[in-house]
This record gives sequence, structure tokens and C-alpha cells, in this order.
Amino acid sequence: MRRQTSLVDIPVDIPKELTDLSKSFADVLLNIGSLYELQLKGDLPVGVENGIWREIPKRLGITEIPETQKDKFEEQIQTLEKGIFDLYPIMVNCGESEMDLIIGKVFSSEGDSVSYYSGAAGLANNNYINILDQFDSKLETLCQKLSVRSLDDGESIKDKAPEIKCLDVFSLAGGLDVSHKPICVFFSGGGPENISSLSNLTVFLNLYSARFRALTMEIAKRYLSGVEIIEGLSDSEISKLLLIWLRGHDVGHFIGEDRLGDKMSEFDMDYMILHELKSDMIALYSFRLFSDDLLNNGLLEKIYYLSVAEMLRYIRRGNILKHPDSASAYLAWCYFERSGAIKYDPGCGKFKIDLLLFGDAVSEFSKELLSIFSEGDAERARELVKRFGNLQTTNENDPSPRDCSETLREVIKDTDIAHYIDYNFITDK
Ligand SMILES: [Zn+2]
Repeated sequence: MRRQTSLVDIPVDIPKELTDLSKSFADVLLNIGSLYELQLKGDLPVGVENGIWREIPKRLGITEIPETQKDKFEEQIQTLEKGIFDLYPIMVNCGESEMDLIIGKVFSSEGDSVSYYSGAAGLANNNYINILDQFDSKLETLCQKLSVRSLDDGESIKDKAPEIKCLDVFSLAGGLDVSHKPICVFFSGGGPENISSLSNLTVFLNLYSARFRALTMEIAKRYLSGVEIIEGLSDSEISKLLLIWLRGHDVGHFIGEDRLGDKMSEFDMDYMILHELKSDMIALYSFRLFSDDLLNNGLLEKIYYLSVAEMLRYIRRGNILKHPDSASAYLAWCYFERSGAIKYDPGCGKFKIDLLLFGDAVSEFSKELLSIFSEGDAERARELVKRFGNLQTTNENDPSPRDCSETLREVIKDTDIAHYIDYNFITDK
């Protein structure tokens, strides 16, 4: 049984003034790719590493840069030369456009605790800033509805939430070019990397939407009853809904008190899974606040379908104990099935969503999770992770959780629908 990869064309229009820069960024990403390959082989002595790394500022240094940007660019290169902790963005503005290169090391998405050389280059996409601002304008209301104090220290949730930025990516390298292509990166811009210090979030928006169309939509068509309501979504609607979901999830990490972090290590798998789960539920909970504006004209229903379809995509990765976000999606799915909000219909072989029950289940589950975190009850936390059975895999041929329902096992095993995605970047017309 071989899992398929879907190859998707990604056209990105590079403004003429930035062509030279885009070539320079692409060259740098080749260096990042070499560092990554050597790292994987376990064949990267410090001397070689430094040698390849030093090529990067050299290559950037001979790039044609708009006159007004030269000083800033020089400064950024100097920072890079000093060595970087996690990821570092180089940003160049030119007229209306901005091109970014993000390079450095990120923790592997495959769950081992090694950080790998990674990089991405793209053009800033500012089309959704208003939508994100509108979402953020209701963060205090969201906290009130969830009956949580915004934050202990009187700081507003808005200041605490990471700054979000969207890129249309035209090149990926290293740890970002793996089979499970990440759609965003977090970086701290200085301090040690942990959930509470990651202050910047860059979303690869064009890749995110493309992945939704190529993978999630196919899963939805095959397995979700009522999928018609999301089939007609335009590209910009998909981007908008995905961003609202992501922003909700993202701020969800920062909402509510966290005494659990004192009891369990931040690298404890149960803790990481529940952190994702709390954020997922807060995202789903947040949607109802926008039924009259951001999510009016039927978009509210659509974003629920889109979220459920995305849950299936996460679950289909299998090996869920290696991926806290997949384990979170699985636990949420089991919770919704148990509460009757999601039901399998053997007649059509698809899952049906009951939106009323779904809304109730989201409220209850959000509150349960928030209380586990605020009370710091590690025992309740571990019980919750075990509530729906054993999450481990049975054997190498079956990546599903051991106690998974047979219907869900079929969805995970289904190799007619691609599990992975690859991109064919097209930058010259
Ligand atoms: Zn998360």
C-alpha cells in the first residue's frame, strides 16, 4: 500500500524589480538544502557547516537591491553573519511589494527533537490584514464568553498573541520541504524556543490554500455528507476561512490560565496534545462571534465543514503520537462522535455533521479543557488523552490509532486520495 503525493502547480508573479533578489534568495535556499541533506546523513562537521553558512551572506551581498533598502539589507546580513538562534527573516521592500527570505533551523515536523536547517522565500500577501484585524478586535469578547480572564498579568491578549504575516511562497528548502509540508512557521526572534516565547507567525498562504484544494477537499468529497456547501468556495474565500481558523487556533494557545505547564513538561506529549486540542476548540468556539460580519452569508456553516474536513486530513497522517496536532484532531473527532455531532451513515458511507450538536459539543469541550489547564490537574489531563482508547499504532502497516473505529481506519488507509503534497513553483511567465 503506497501513499500518494499530489503535485500542484504554484504560480507566483515576481515583480520585475525583484527578479534578481528572487534568484539570490533561491540560491541561498540551495545552500540551506545542502546543509539539511548533510545534517540528515549525520555528516556535518562544524567546519563544513560554517563554510556553507558563510556562503549565504556572501551571496546576498552581491544582490541588486533598491537604493532605499540597501542600509536595512546590510544590517540584516550582518545579523545573519553573527549566527541565528531559530529562524531569521530578511525582508526587502520595493514599491508596493515586499519579498521575504526566512532561514535557520526549525524542529522537525516528524516529532524528533532535532532542529533542522530550513528555509522559505516568498512575497508578502497583505490582502487579508483587515480580516485578521477584525478577528483580533473580538479577542476580549472571546475571553469573556469563555469565562476566562484575559491574562493574569493585566496584559491584553492581543499583545500576547503572535504577530501574523502572510507570504505567497515561491521556494522551500530543508526541513520545510519534507513530505508533510508545513503551512506556517513560528519563530521567537531571539529567545529560546517554546510555546510562550514564539512571537512571530508566518503563514505560507498560497501553499495552505493549495493544500486545502488538493488534499482536504478530496477527503471531504469522499467522506463528508453535505460537502456541496464548501465545493463552490472561491480561492479567496478558502484563504479567508483558513486564516480565520488558523488565527483562532493560534490565539487559543494563549487564552486561559496554564497551571498545567508547571506540572508537566512543555515537551510532555500529553501536554502538547492537550495544548493543541484546547486551541482547536477555542478556534471552533470563536467562529460564532462572527456570524454577523466576517462569517455572514452562510460562511459560518462553511467554516465548520472546512474545519471538520481539515480534522480528517490531520487524522489521515496516522502515527498520531508523533504529531500533537493530529492527535488533537483525533481526540476532537472522537469527542464529536460520542456526543452525536458527527455520525457515520453506513448508507452513503459518509460522515454527517449535526451543526447544533456540534456547537454544544464545542462549548462543553472548550470549557473542560480550559479548566484542566487552569487547575493544573495533570491526572485529569492524562485521563483525557486516554479517554478514547490507545493512541499508539498496532503495527507498521496500520498507522491508525489502535482503538480507532473501523470507519475512521478506512479513511486513514484510503490511498486513492493523496496523503502528501508537492509543489511545482512557477515564477516565470
Ligand atoms: Zn497549535
